[in-house]
Amino acid sequence: MRLEILRCRACGAPLKADPADAMARCGHCRAGHQIIGSSAVAVSEAAVAPPAAAAVDQWLPLWLVEFQVAAADIERLPPRSVFQPHPDESVPPPDPPAPLALDQRQALLVPAFGTTNFVNYSSNLGLELSGRWDGRDLSPAPRDAPWPLCRYGSLDARGMAPVLLRLLVNKRERDVIGLEFEPVWIRERLIWWPFAVDGDCLRDLLFGVRVLRSAIASDPTPADA
Ligand SMILES: [Zn+2]
Repeated sequence: MRLEILRCRACGAPLKADPADAMARCGHCRAGHQIIGSSAVAVSEAAVAPPAAAAVDQWLPLWLVEFQVAAADIERLPPRSVFQPHPDESVPPPDPPAPLALDQRQALLVPAFGTTNFVNYSSNLGLELSGRWDGRDLSPAPRDAPWPLCRYGSLDARGMAPVLLRLLVNKRERDVIGLEFEPVWIRERLIWWPFAVDGDCLRDLLFGVRVLRSAIASDPTPADA
């Protein structure tokens, strides 16, 4: 492996990271980075503020992926009913599914942490939170954010966002038969989401969405000293 000296984009200190790592945090100024190829790229970070008085047991990292996708790219079966064997072209299609909207953009929350089963755990959490959160009330990232949990960079998140979007569309509307889209990517931010331990699960502190603790891929590296 080629050894590169990666430097913090904010303060210039050497970054303790290996090109195999997806993400790294500067040990000096704590600025977040992702490792793309042999470069360190600064990451925009924020946290979702927990409700007042709620104790945070665990922060989990999610990518907030913002994009634009044309609704015309979604192909539907025409509406039909048992009383009307032929499609009725006069019935307008239902509204397209609405992922988290930020201004005119669309956005999804894609887990940046690893799980034992992406479709069951990551996608469910991403869909549930994306469908409920209004994108507001962001606060600075927590100082104790568990960076070693980050397994996926923003390019991975861009790859997963269309998977989540397809799942979201299919979950809400059974008549969608074709979904071809080329999202126009706008930006990605790393969002730390607050959870409380609840038995075998972590429960998100805003909406009560749960994820099995055993499904979260464990920290591959020793915790920061
Ligand atoms: Zn730094």
